[in-house]
Amino acid sequence: MSNGERIGVFGGTFDPVHKTHLDIARAAREQARLDRVLLVPAATPPHKKGDVHTNAEDRFAMVAAAVAGEPNFEASRIEIDREGPSYTIDTLEALSSIHPGCLLFLIVGFDSLIDLPRWRRAEDIVARARLLVAPRPDTAGNAQVPYADRCQLLRITPSAVSSTEIRKRLAAGEDLSPWLPAPVLRVIGERGLYHAHY
Ligand code: ATP
Repeated sequence: MSNGERIGVFGGTFDPVHKTHLDIARAAREQARLDRVLLVPAATPPHKKGDVHTNAEDRFAMVAAAVAGEPNFEASRIEIDREGPSYTIDTLEALSSIHPGCLLFLIVGFDSLIDLPRWRRAEDIVARARLLVAPRPDTAGNAQVPYADRCQLLRITPSAVSSTEIRKRLAAGEDLSPWLPAPVLRVIGERGLYHAHY
C-alpha cells in the first residue's frame, strides 16, 4: 500500500464488541485523520488468560458484523491467525512489513494506557505507534499518564460501557440494543452466545 498511509490499530478482546468501541474508533479516525482503522480481536489476550468467555471466531464474527457498514473500518484476523498469545508488538511489526512506510496509531482506552508499561516490549510499541487514548470514567482521574508525549487524547464523551457489564446483562435477558449494534445482537442471537435469552 501507499507510503504514509495512516492506519489505526484497535485491539481488544471484544467479548462482545460494543457501541463505545465503535464511537472510539470513529473519533480516532476523524481526529487523527486515519485512512483506515483495523479492529483486531485478540486470539489469546496475554493479560486476560482464563477470562475470555467466547471463542475467537465468534468474537471475530461480531466485530466483522459491527464494521460491515463502516467505510474505512476493517475487522482484522491478524492476531487470530497467528500462533500463540496475542502480543501487540508482534501485530505492529507485522503491519509495518505488510504496509511499508505506513504510520501506525494504536487506539487504547485510558485503562489500557495505564497498563501499557507492563505489556511486552512496551518501549518498542510506543516507538512504533502513536497512541490515541479514549477517556474512561473509572480511570480518568488516575495520576500518572505514561508516554504522555506519545499520546493524543480523543475528544469523546466518556462512557462507562464495558463488555463485562454487557455479558452480565445479556445473561440476565436484558435489552442491550442501546449498547450493542444491531448486527452484533443478531450474531449473538444466531450463535446463542452469552446464554442470551431471545
Ligand atoms: P471487558 O469488560 O471484558 O474488560 P472492555 O469493555 O474493556 O472489556 P476490551 O475488548 O477489553 O473491552 O477493550 C478493547 C479496548 O477498548 C481497550 O483499549 C479498552 O480500554 C477500550 N475500551 C473499552 N470500553 C471502553 C470505554 N467504555 N471507554 C474507553 N475505552 C474503552
